[in-house]
Amino acid sequence: MLMDLRSDTVTKPTKEMLDFMISTPVGDDVFGEDPTINKLEALSASLFGMEKAIFCPSGTMTNQIAIKVHTQPGDEVICDELSHVYQYEGGGISFNAGASVRLLQGDRGRLNSKLVRESINNPDDVHKAVSRLVVLENTGNRGGGSCYEWNDIVEIGTVCKEKKLGFHLDGARLFNALIAKNEDALSYGTAFDSISICLSKGLGAPVGSVLLGNAEFIKKARRIRKVFGGGMRQAGILAAGGIYALQNNIERLRIDHDHAKAIEGMLKAKSFIKGILEVETNIVIAEVAPDFDLSNFIQKMSSQGILFLSLSPNRFRMVTHLDITSAMINKLEYSLKQF
Ligand SMILES: *Cc1c(COP(=O)(O)O)cnc(C)c1O
Repeated sequence: MLMDLRSDTVTKPTKEMLDFMISTPVGDDVFGEDPTINKLEALSASLFGMEKAIFCPSGTMTNQIAIKVHTQPGDEVICDELSHVYQYEGGGISFNAGASVRLLQGDRGRLNSKLVRESINNPDDVHKAVSRLVVLENTGNRGGGSCYEWNDIVEIGTVCKEKKLGFHLDGARLFNALIAKNEDALSYGTAFDSISICLSKGLGAPVGSVLLGNAEFIKKARRIRKVFGGGMRQAGILAAGGIYALQNNIERLRIDHDHAKAIEGMLKAKSFIKGILEVETNIVIAEVAPDFDLSNFIQKMSSQGILFLSLSPNRFRMVTHLDITSAMINKLEYSLKQF
């Protein structure tokens, strides 16, 4: 019984999801003729009350397309220093959009309106890059699955409107936040200009992300997706996994959150754990004591079929998802006894 806590991207499609995927009608999506992709895009847009949506192979691509559409080369993108768009997208902001980045030090990956306001350049100062876009991430990956307070989002959105900046949400794990905070997708649709959601994280689809925005924005995004090489053909097979995920796997994220809380409790009882970021969703980030051998710990646990990643020499991460069962959580508790 392998317990893979490395990421919520490791989930495998269930038999029900696969059956649904192979029985779906398909067509050439670059011609706009894949009925299943069209259905996924319409379903996603209506969930958030946004005009249009576009299906893409990855969350990196949806974020990068959004940044490219919102900015011109030389513009500045404002985001938290921990954000995925900066940390984990291969320098794509400069590579794909030719934009520069203003990194802010938020709280576990979360910005606030004061930080954002102070970081916006004077548009009349020719020395400065033009501040054009604010990117938030909810939940915050490197923040340990941290959730925004709704008021903070609204206040940052107000600053963006006032200063005429675009407002993009990297919502790779937005559904975890919606469940944890008891929020609704429609409010998010009104707050942001564009939203990226991942189907292949906690929702359990094998592949895919969706970018949402108004009709004009998604029209531009469709062109950029083609330029990035993301125009797929009979990819309705993949989109069907996303439809299945949106229809069946949102509410059950609570289970993942409960499992993560249980892991937090087990780790807190261990003397070698120096600290844990408060668990809000499905990500547990813990710090070990300075004299504790983290790589030995990870190796021993892995030899017992329990996999997780180190984030630094003294920090590790465990992520729960729909392939983690309560039997596995018990096994983890048992295996932790030797440490
Ligand atoms: C996983 C993730 C993405 C997208 O990653 P892909 O692997 O390209 O799908 C984007 N943002 C965050 C916060 C993520 O965790």
